Amino acid sequence: MIIRIQGNLNPYYIQTLCMLFFPGVKFPENEECTPETHVVTVNMTETETGVAADASILQGETKTGGIWQENWNAAIGDKDRIRKIAAGRAFMLAGEAFTGFTPPWGIMTGVRPAKLVSEYLHAGRTPEEAASMLEKEFFASSDKAHLAVQVAQAEDRLITDEKRKDCSLYIAIPFCPTRCAYCSFVSYTSPNLLKLIPDYLAALAEDIDHTCGLIRQLGLRVATVYIGGGTPTILTADQLDFLLSRIRKWIPEVEEFTLEAGRPDTITKDKLETAVRYGVDRISVNTQTLNEDVLARIGRKHTAAEFFAAYETARQTGLKAINIDLIAGLPSDTADSFRATVDAILPLQAENITVHTFCVKKSADFKADGMFDRDGLEAMKSVQYSYRALTETGYLPYYMYRQKNTVGNLENVGYAKPGYEGLYNIYMMEEVHIIFSCGASAVTKFVFLPAEDGSVRIERIFQPKYPYEYLREQTEGDRKRRMDLEKAAAAFYGLE
Ligand code: SF4
Repeated sequence: MIIRIQGNLNPYYIQTLCMLFFPGVKFPENEECTPETHVVTVNMTETETGVAADASILQGETKTGGIWQENWNAAIGDKDRIRKIAAGRAFMLAGEAFTGFTPPWGIMTGVRPAKLVSEYLHAGRTPEEAASMLEKEFFASSDKAHLAVQVAQAEDRLITDEKRKDCSLYIAIPFCPTRCAYCSFVSYTSPNLLKLIPDYLAALAEDIDHTCGLIRQLGLRVATVYIGGGTPTILTADQLDFLLSRIRKWIPEVEEFTLEAGRPDTITKDKLETAVRYGVDRISVNTQTLNEDVLARIGRKHTAAEFFAAYETARQTGLKAINIDLIAGLPSDTADSFRATVDAILPLQAENITVHTFCVKKSADFKADGMFDRDGLEAMKSVQYSYRALTETGYLPYYMYRQKNTVGNLENVGYAKPGYEGLYNIYMMEEVHIIFSCGASAVTKFVFLPAEDGSVRIERIFQPKYPYEYLREQTEGDRKRRMDLEKAAAAFYGLE
């Protein structure tokens, strides 16, 4: 796609708007213009009273356009904000005419709509006013504006000032038994790389010692621990015992301890009993869909029956909360089949159900076999159904995030029965407090307490991305990383 801009506008903003209508689109430098190329043009004209945007999308013989005028208005935002609204609205008109698709979140490109709503609520707006602002300023649909308000209210109930002084700990196990077709995470799956697991665990244990030592030195309380993946239950029961005992040595008390077990084909009774023995109280058994054809197409290597068996095993261990991950809009899945998945999951009475929307890595991957739900209609119906079915049976949406390139420009929503919300998800997503992270690809995030103007400073410290690099950097790299961590901690406490 080629983008041409005239006027005061950040090209990156227009790129993110393009992704709303063309998921997976790329913007190569010096792209040759052929009859297949989409050419987006945005012209901005400013006067003393406001700004006018004129946007068009051209491909071969097809051309659509949109025009929008917005007055400078300090009550809405500064000039940059007003320019974005004008350009966004003009582009949205052009995009709707070109594709016949209306993005449900309008021109909202941020990851966390609920955070914005929370800011409106804290500034004294009523929930109705906050929803109406999302509709007027971002052209979000009233359903989505209402959802964002519900999530913001749930988060506000759960995030107290006390929680901001705590921290959480994330442990990465980036290994999986096989690779799902849609995977965009760092995870080793080949038998040769899986042989690294014992060495990885030894290095991870040292990482945990150092990180937890620092947490103790800083006098912080660990509110939640989350072991994520990959697929953490790829570890044997003995390996889990080793890992969990190391964590417990440092953190005897914790509010929530999650093992994102993950793939049903790795879950066994002895692994879960080991987890429960060390106080794990929340796990995730993820099927994504119960449609056998779709499971096979996306390379999940487990059946619906295996999912139910793994869920039953988990239930019998007496865990406090079980989460089930689903994905709406998977290649070749339909709204009817997703509805059947949701209907079959509901009787299980899982405490948490998370409904993700399929994220397109490269549109070519799915266009190639004609399986890509480009306009997202099936995904949209699936998401609408899941919201209705879950809220009518006692679940509430409590956490939400958006990603670029999701089918239908839809969101990912965590639903919970009241009192069973996954706290780590909220603390991490809403940047409530420091998240210390151990393991390859993990990122430690220092969240500084809000400044007087409400702004929050975040400092990130990255671990090496791949397990191989993580192991290689056990000497020099490790020392440097530890120094970075200690420096950031010192800055956090004003000790520099
Ligand atoms: S289970 Fe998750 S991390 Fe593992 S291959 Fe599948 S999508 Fe990737």
